[in-house]
Amino acid sequence: MGKRYRITVSGVVQGVGFRPYVYRLAAGLGIKGYVLNTSGGVVVEAEGDGARAFSQTLTKNPPPLASIESISTEILPAAGYETFEIRLSESSPGEFAQVSPDIATCPDCLAELFEPLDRRYHHPFVNCTNCGPRYSIVTGIPYDRGFTTMKRFAMCEDCSAEYKKPSDRRFHAQPVACPRCGPGLRFIETGVAGTFVETAAGRVFEPVRRAAIALRAGQVVAVKGLGGFHLACNAADQKAARRLRELKRGSKKPFALMAPDIETIRRFCVVSEQEESLLSGRVRPIVILERKPEADGLISPDVAPGCRTLGFMLPYTPLHHLLMNGPGGAERNFDALVMTSGNISEEPIITDNREALDKLKGLCDSFLLHDRDIHMRIDDSVAKVAGGIPRVVRRARGYVPETIDMGREMPDILACGAELKNTLCMTKGRHAIVSQHIGDMTNFEATGFFAETLGNLMKIFGVNPSVVASDMHPDYLSTRFAYDYSLTSEPRPKLVAVQHHHAHVAACMAENGFNGKVIGIAFDGTGYGTDGKTWGSEFMVADFAGFERIAHLEYMPLPGGDAAVREPWRSALSVLVTAYGQKEGWEVFSSVKADLALSRGAEVVMKMLEKGVNCPPSSGMGRLFDAVSSLTGVLDTVSYEAEAAILLENEAYGAPDEDGAYPFALWDGSPSVIDIGPLVRAVVKDVKAGTPRAVISARFHNTITGMALKVCGLAREKTGIGTVALSGGVFQNALLSARMEEGLMDMGFRVLTHSKLPANDGCISLGQAAVAAAAGRPEA
Ligand code: ZN
Ligand code: ZN
Ligand code: FE
Repeated sequence: MGKRYRITVSGVVQGVGFRPYVYRLAAGLGIKGYVLNTSGGVVVEAEGDGARAFSQTLTKNPPPLASIESISTEILPAAGYETFEIRLSESSPGEFAQVSPDIATCPDCLAELFEPLDRRYHHPFVNCTNCGPRYSIVTGIPYDRGFTTMKRFAMCEDCSAEYKKPSDRRFHAQPVACPRCGPGLRFIETGVAGTFVETAAGRVFEPVRRAAIALRAGQVVAVKGLGGFHLACNAADQKAARRLRELKRGSKKPFALMAPDIETIRRFCVVSEQEESLLSGRVRPIVILERKPEADGLISPDVAPGCRTLGFMLPYTPLHHLLMNGPGGAERNFDALVMTSGNISEEPIITDNREALDKLKGLCDSFLLHDRDIHMRIDDSVAKVAGGIPRVVRRARGYVPETIDMGREMPDILACGAELKNTLCMTKGRHAIVSQHIGDMTNFEATGFFAETLGNLMKIFGVNPSVVASDMHPDYLSTRFAYDYSLTSEPRPKLVAVQHHHAHVAACMAENGFNGKVIGIAFDGTGYGTDGKTWGSEFMVADFAGFERIAHLEYMPLPGGDAAVREPWRSALSVLVTAYGQKEGWEVFSSVKADLALSRGAEVVMKMLEKGVNCPPSSGMGRLFDAVSSLTGVLDTVSYEAEAAILLENEAYGAPDEDGAYPFALWDGSPSVIDIGPLVRAVVKDVKAGTPRAVISARFHNTITGMALKVCGLAREKTGIGTVALSGGVFQNALLSARMEEGLMDMGFRVLTHSKLPANDGCISLGQAAVAAAAGRPEA
């Protein structure tokens, strides 16, 4: 009696050419049996003389996009198979299967796109098992065409033949299409009185050509991409960029750029080897790069006002390649296109044609649409290289829904995140699935995006939460969502509220696979504290199960609450009052911010401070950066989150060798409190003495670094803990991060930092899940 090997493979093995790979391997060894996608991964049955060898070589050379997590083999009596076949999928509910992220166009497909004799010449939707849309078009599992938005495009004979032929690169490539059967494009111009005129349509080049002409003529064009719409314009065109800036309601948030190739990007920015591989890899994020002076005349100043960096990405869909590179593939229609998210201010990126025509018509002159529906909206990811490590700043397209291994089995958890730059997280088995960047949960649209993403992830990963985690802030929409969810689900999930900065530190530990005690530093703008005050400069001793707050900046009043976040000069006045007292604080304000002191607004804010009305106490590190930014004359009012701190950091690069620092006082206690008075008075002294901003900024950065090193050193003496975890939006500040990491390592600490997830609140949901998992475990 012969043997039959039943092999179960899990990991990212669906939609990545794994079955054709198994098929070819089986054919080569004369194996009989079958391969099958299940909702738990891939199952192979093999019999024949080479079956043992086959089962051993299966993991040796998998397709490039596959990532095998585990493989198990059962030996059964032979079933007498006569052929080797690829069987149709069967799904068993509740099993876990990974879905691949969306992947940039591969070199083979790119070659076909520009090959005049190829039947997919100029087809903007060319893809194969090694590339193309995945997560954005999946509507259910198992991953089959019927569960994607390609369902409504019936394959032509040629495509169908490729799809069925095991040796073909498109064997079971679910989004396979061609100019005969695939999605098409439309170019639509806005006419008079809100009308639309379609001026080109088709499945090849013409609509793209029209869009390129419009962009060259200075138009703003809404371009439908992989995960949503972009608003595009020629980045060299001053007028067009200025207009787009105005249409975006005055926000100075930098626009993302797309360039045809690395050589072109090098004309504008410094690109290291690591940055090059990040730019050109299969994720193709927007990469934040140091700007060269040469960029000044070539890229409109409205693209990234006041920034020493530019965010560039390379084309990642065939449509982008056609648009950037013209019909021959090498024309370089543009050196750089602005490609900013097609949305209204902080609302979610728009995905639907009708919605785009309706909502974006006031923001653009024309539309380049296609009719492959986007099921999951997903923005471009943003990444950078810092400290020699590629770091994700906004985690979305190309990364999501890759999972994070939590190192042990967990209950099904739903974690709802915080408020700004929000994500949600679910766990299944050992896996944490962090959603794409959802954005600011202060608007109704983002709440809808949150619910939509939740529903989709639950469905494709088969999650059924028994624990729901949220922030402690009672008014966050995400907290309310968690509460409502737990009340309306049966059986009722357990609700766990996690302190914001504990979640930050836990997220950093989780993504580094660290499961011990750390000295955690969470520096950010705001987070709800266990005392009901606003925290944001937290030093803690923490593990997943709990934390003890060991030090923080002294509280300062935040006149007007959120208004102070938008207007850093309010924080400036507040720190002066904290450092000098009311009377002298106002006098100092009047001398260093003379214009502002004469305004009615400043008078009102001073009254608020005097009476303590609407002045919630805050220990946010972000607010101290705001205050110093305003005091040194960098920025008084922000147009996007953290703008004042970003511009203050920029200043410091002007004094790279400055090693001076300001004094501060540390009041020992539990927790210890850092007195900012000496620091503020020293800054004021420098401002009054006319010390250059660059020097003040550098000294300020040195001071915060010194402060952190001091606290960590003292904490190690007390606790013996030798690992520090750094999290919070303030650590997106490359200068501060680098200095702190260096300093801590010099002191012999092991330093954990974020790289897979952003240091900002995009990591909160993962941290909540990690804490909730620990809270759900029975006491040891
Ligand atoms: Zn391909
Ligand atoms: Zn076809
Ligand atoms: Fe935070």
